[in-house]
Amino acid sequence: MRSLSLLLLTASLTEYASAFTGGHRDIHHDHYGQDLRRRNIVYNGQIADTYDFVIVGGGTAGLAIASRLSEDSNTTVLVLEAGDTGDAAADTINTPVNAYYHGLPGSAYDWAYTTVTQPNAGNRAVSWPCGKLLGGSSAMNGMYHVHPSKLEVDAWSSLVNGTTKWNWDALFAGMKDSETFTPPTSDVQAIVKMEYDASSRGTNGPIHASYPGFEFSTIGTWTATLANAGVAVCQDAYGGDPFGAYIATNSINPANWTRSYARTGYIDPLPPRDNLAILPNATVTRLLFDTSNAGNLTATGVEWAASADGARQTIKVRKEVILSGGAMGSPRVLMHSGVGPADVLQAAGVDVQVNLPGVGQHLQDHLSSGLLFQTNTDTAASLYASNATGNTPIFLSYVNSAVAYVNSTSLLGADGAASLKQQVADALSSSLSSLVRLARQDRSPAC
Ligand SMILES: Cc1cc2nc3c(=O)[nH]c(=O)nc-3n(C[C@H](O)[C@H](O)[C@H](O)COP(=O)(O)OP(=O)(O)OC[C@H]3O[C@@H](n4cnc5c(N)ncnc54)[C@H](O)[C@@H]3O)c2cc1C
Repeated sequence: MRSLSLLLLTASLTEYASAFTGGHRDIHHDHYGQDLRRRNIVYNGQIADTYDFVIVGGGTAGLAIASRLSEDSNTTVLVLEAGDTGDAAADTINTPVNAYYHGLPGSAYDWAYTTVTQPNAGNRAVSWPCGKLLGGSSAMNGMYHVHPSKLEVDAWSSLVNGTTKWNWDALFAGMKDSETFTPPTSDVQAIVKMEYDASSRGTNGPIHASYPGFEFSTIGTWTATLANAGVAVCQDAYGGDPFGAYIATNSINPANWTRSYARTGYIDPLPPRDNLAILPNATVTRLLFDTSNAGNLTATGVEWAASADGARQTIKVRKEVILSGGAMGSPRVLMHSGVGPADVLQAAGVDVQVNLPGVGQHLQDHLSSGLLFQTNTDTAASLYASNATGNTPIFLSYVNSAVAYVNSTSLLGADGAASLKQQVADALSSSLSSLVRLARQDRSPAC
């Protein structure tokens, strides 16, 4: 099997410079009257033909990487994002409560995937939202800001030969660097009495981790209720041991009670950077490779289009193409470029560049299901509908943040947990074939 290298070394800044001296960037003002040119977003479509780094997907990871790479003013960076800016939906995105009542899932900003029918969910096909705009899924997610467990992260590191790059210590440091933690207000703390250990949190990162400005008593009974049911209360969920019940932080900026996400954290606060261009409505259709070096495939650029039937355009890259299209988007770009399982690519009529069977396989996601019940007490939804609190920004910052990560043995007992584990293991091969079918059905490059 040939190894895949996304490294390209050449040098010339002239093409990039000429694109901006010849053209201009439009100045737009958003809902808050802010000058969007400062955000390095290209509104007039004018970009250069070569960059040091081309980032595929301006979502959660893509915008963070773009922001960090372009700190070096000698490094040119282009982000190509399939979705729109999100400017027209700023109120929906920024108001936390909308994540639950008027969010982006189902809108034009959602890739709106659907799974194949799930035999273990009554043969239902399950809808699977995914952000398609600047900020990606961080612009539409439920705003739970959690840290994973040390156990899981270290198991992950052991899969890549115990690398210290991906172990708990390295990721814990990175997670702290990415966040600014703000404790709950005294009003909220009096109601919910949440436990937290500030030493496990960051103090100066671009993404805010805080609590809503409004809570009510139902949330305050969460941990006590679970403790009565035998589920331990978690004292420091963010230090690597999140098992048990706790009130999670949310990605809310407590200065104005708005969503804190990849765009507001990593891009909007930047000064103008002439070495950074972020192009919305640009779907990467495939990677372009230099295949002349036998055994080594080098990415030399990308092909992209403004719409499914739009003309294919190309961008050259001097150093690296960075794939950050999300769990579905990145493997799809690789497969359209001929990198993936040979049988799937051949069936789709794609020339195989590298037979890499793992691409587009082994996807895992957590399940989520709702439990509905009626109550005579006020809920966020009833208060919202009746406008009882005036629906002020502080009230509208409410998002449900009660979480419990429970060991299956404590829920199901030792025998039940062992049986569940066996069922999951037995279903693995059939699940994989379902996922391959999903990838085969989804061939449109600019959908
Ligand atoms: C409805 C919902 C609720 C969630 N709730 C939570 C939560 O409460 N807490 C939590 O921690 N996580 C939550 N998540 C998950 C979390 O938001 C994601 O795991 C995370 O944002 C993924 O980041 P990413 O950079 O991998 O992908 P994304 O942020 O999805 O970014 C991928 C970007 O690439 C773009 N793209 C894809 N293909 C191409 C292409 N060919 N060309 C150009 N651009 C392309 C996409 O449009 C997108 O903008 C939720 C997700 C969703 C959808």
